[in-house]
Amino acid sequence: MSLHECIREKIPAEMPNRKIKSLMYVSFFAMFTYVMVPGAIDFFKVVPHDIFIIDYNETSCVLPKHDPFDSSIIKYFYDVDSPCDKFPDIVYLDNDLQLQTNTSAVKEAGWRQHLTCEREYIQRINEKTVVFVPEKSASSSSVYSDCSKISCHDQSSSLVYQQLVFHTDSERVLKSKQIKEETTDSPSVVIVGIDSVSQLAAKRLLPKTLHYLTHSLGAHIFNGYTKVAENTFPNLISLLSGQKEKLEALFRDKYLDDMVSFIWKNFSGKGYVTMYAEEQPVSPSFTAVSKGFLHPPTDHYFFPCGVAMDNIKTLIHSPNYRHSSAAYNKLLLLKPFMFCHGNKAKHEIQINYLKSFLSSYESKRKFSLTWMAALAHDDLNYLRLADDQLRDFFDWSNKNGHFNNTILILLSDHGSNLNAIRNTVIGRVEERMPLFAIALPKYLKEKYPLLERNLRHNTERLTSHFDTYHTLVDILDGRFCRSSEPDHRLIGRSLFSRIPSNRTCGDAGIRSEYCPCHKYDIVDVSENKLTEFGESVVQKINSKFESVYPRCMRLSLNKVENSQKIVSNFIPAPWTEHSFTWYSIWHSEERHIDSKQYRMLISTTPGLALFESSLTLHPDGRIEVWDHISRANRYGNQSHCVDVVELKPFCFCG
Ligand SMILES: [Zn+2]
Repeated sequence: MSLHECIREKIPAEMPNRKIKSLMYVSFFAMFTYVMVPGAIDFFKVVPHDIFIIDYNETSCVLPKHDPFDSSIIKYFYDVDSPCDKFPDIVYLDNDLQLQTNTSAVKEAGWRQHLTCEREYIQRINEKTVVFVPEKSASSSSVYSDCSKISCHDQSSSLVYQQLVFHTDSERVLKSKQIKEETTDSPSVVIVGIDSVSQLAAKRLLPKTLHYLTHSLGAHIFNGYTKVAENTFPNLISLLSGQKEKLEALFRDKYLDDMVSFIWKNFSGKGYVTMYAEEQPVSPSFTAVSKGFLHPPTDHYFFPCGVAMDNIKTLIHSPNYRHSSAAYNKLLLLKPFMFCHGNKAKHEIQINYLKSFLSSYESKRKFSLTWMAALAHDDLNYLRLADDQLRDFFDWSNKNGHFNNTILILLSDHGSNLNAIRNTVIGRVEERMPLFAIALPKYLKEKYPLLERNLRHNTERLTSHFDTYHTLVDILDGRFCRSSEPDHRLIGRSLFSRIPSNRTCGDAGIRSEYCPCHKYDIVDVSENKLTEFGESVVQKINSKFESVYPRCMRLSLNKVENSQKIVSNFIPAPWTEHSFTWYSIWHSEERHIDSKQYRMLISTTPGLALFESSLTLHPDGRIEVWDHISRANRYGNQSHCVDVVELKPFCFCG
């Protein structure tokens, strides 16, 4: 079967009239429900509009490599402006968490008179309900959330300002439990998660953040990280509990407290303070499928603040500003409602909340998961608005010593599964391959050099959320020296261990329909073409050091040692009425895939180096060598004349 045939549209050429009619009814009903029924969007978000399977879940994985700026997808990316209102913060909480008025902001807003501001604490009743308790009637024995509603009136008693403020109430937690100090074998764990961000999308839209992570924090970005199930809920469950996907119906109308063993409980048991901060109660990770949590699952639980954000109208009415945003309305699914709270983007609020958490517990053991559900979920392009803020947050944390004893993870659950990009070849791969980056503190790298080497090695291996779970277990147990083989009865394995190249999707707990791997077939081009391929690879290698390091000798092709054609993994699933949704009609587009991919092993002279590389042969005959070329034999002292680590495998000193 040709590549083109493999990726053809799954809708049959001729569909019986009866089916077309029933689909029209279903589509109309779906659209009506989508618009009219609150919560319907949650249902439609989980419907994949393309279902593909592969037939070799148990063969070794070869990772797909794609250009994040490929011309077939670049049209889906454009600049966006922040939809949030622009006005200064009128009030803030000081270090003692007392309410203060920002006098310069009051002046800037144009008020000449005194404002009277009141504070109401936010008390969680359950996952969907909060109540606002005025400060003067608040009880010292009650537990309030880490946010308060502030309302300011002018001298004529008109409401002129209303918004929430956020903080970390560490005093409350410190009264109720003993939190231990960090040690070298019990470091803190900070996880920042952004829903629906593929690794390629992060390369496009978070370039400053990724640059800071890799260059200043020495983070590793995993190129084979893959989702294990369809949407947020099962992927997060695997990540946080190692639990294999269960039927979602089992969770319906049930609380998660006793159904899932979240790893934050184990961290809490080892003297860690725990925090889980998700901002979006409308399309949440857990409450879309279950009833969420009966009791707050972590010491600091931001979810009630998210509920409160959606229940109040933010406003500022001053001579210089006049803005108000209605409370969240499910029928008005507009970006400002999802994305902003008054003058702040919700992800900005979450970053500030995380900063407050880190500052409150400085050298104490911390486990935090910040989950940004709204930032990129509905329109990936909004992700770029967080690039500066995330980079600045990592820089602030680093410079203030918050990462001295902290393992940092930046990740996502899956790639974009709503945007039209999913109907492109690269988009399909992206949808399966979320962002995953991990940075170790310096002392851990020095104490356990093997750990760092294994992480680097594993960036080019097939990995999954189950592996992250086992990595968290290793951190919990202070197991940083992985010399023994992991337990093969478990799904997934710690990223601290060395993952073999013959790993399959089955080994990593990835369901076959989400397996991103390629397999190889017998090569189908002439000897001359193979030589041309080999020479293109050599040219690419030479271009890495030519004109920069003249002491590296120009390499020539010795011979093509072997070559295989890469066979696409996408085979359309058998068509059923269930696999065809209104959403697929809406977003389908013509697809033409005529290019072919090859992998090859070549040797070069002088030095008889072996290089492994992949390339694309385009329909117009153009040969495009992929960026990642690996050295496949030892280079010993051949490259003694260069000190750039990345160039050492390629240079033969003259
Ligand atoms: Zn998600």
